[in-house]
Amino acid sequence: MSKLAIVKVRLDREVNGYIVSCSSTKEAVVVDPGLPVEKIAEQLKGLKVRYILATHCHPGHVAGKDDLKELVGGETALHSADAKQFLRSADRYLVDGDELEFGEFKLTVLHTPGHTPGSVCFVVANHAFVGDTILAGGIGKQTPETDLRRQMMSIGTKLLRLPLATALYPGHGPATSLEREMAQNPIFRGAPAPR
Ligand SMILES: [Zn+2]
Ligand SMILES: [Zn+2]
Repeated sequence: MSKLAIVKVRLDREVNGYIVSCSSTKEAVVVDPGLPVEKIAEQLKGLKVRYILATHCHPGHVAGKDDLKELVGGETALHSADAKQFLRSADRYLVDGDELEFGEFKLTVLHTPGHTPGSVCFVVANHAFVGDTILAGGIGKQTPETDLRRQMMSIGTKLLRLPLATALYPGHGPATSLEREMAQNPIFRGAPAPR
């Protein structure tokens, strides 16, 4: 059985980039192509990049996408609502429910607007790459584009539907799990329990 490998790359502005790859086919997906791209490319040796995906279009999470593509190939993708908000383009525009295949794995796109209008989370098996929608012990820094009410709604209707054991890989800070955040994250105080 092929295994999923996840490598975290620490990028400028304290952004976490992730390289998710299939151990048997060596096909990979990059989540959040920030800068410097060389640091990401270094970790991609021996892997074939299928997609370069942005959880949202704040510069720290997306600034390296075109340079990285030039270096390592792959198709760039982001949500159209953020393309519009931040005047960014990509090879492909993601919508809720999209499924992207790499190797023997499948990545599902969840549109989770709030932090930005086009924020998305990426789910692979029991792992979720959640950008700034939720961090360990909090949420991403609020910006003028942030709609907090919508963000809480996205967390409640999309993320809380995932199994409790789902590991969460945020755009900043340490990895966590849905279960741990349900118990400890202040945003869940008073939130309805998941079904
Ligand atoms: Zn952000
Ligand atoms: Zn961020």
